[in-house]
Amino acid sequence: MSERQTCPSAPVVLPLRLDAEPKPVPGCAHCDNIAMEHDRARANGEASKRRDCNVRLRRHLSADHR
Ligand SMILES: [Zn+2]
Repeated sequence: MSERQTCPSAPVVLPLRLDAEPKPVPGCAHCDNIAMEHDRARANGEASKRRDCNVRLRRHLSADHR
């Protein structure tokens, strides 16, 4: 087998945009928690904390809400 996996165009599987904020799932305590922290960070103008919440929520969504 000499076929190499150097495809020039990577397949677009996940339509993830980094600046799109993930949505918390209603009724999930964990989502609620992160959403509350996110709201507080937004109110305080803490951009890095907001980004952190987004990352955590996105990870939680893909782990527990698939
Ligand atoms: Zn959740």
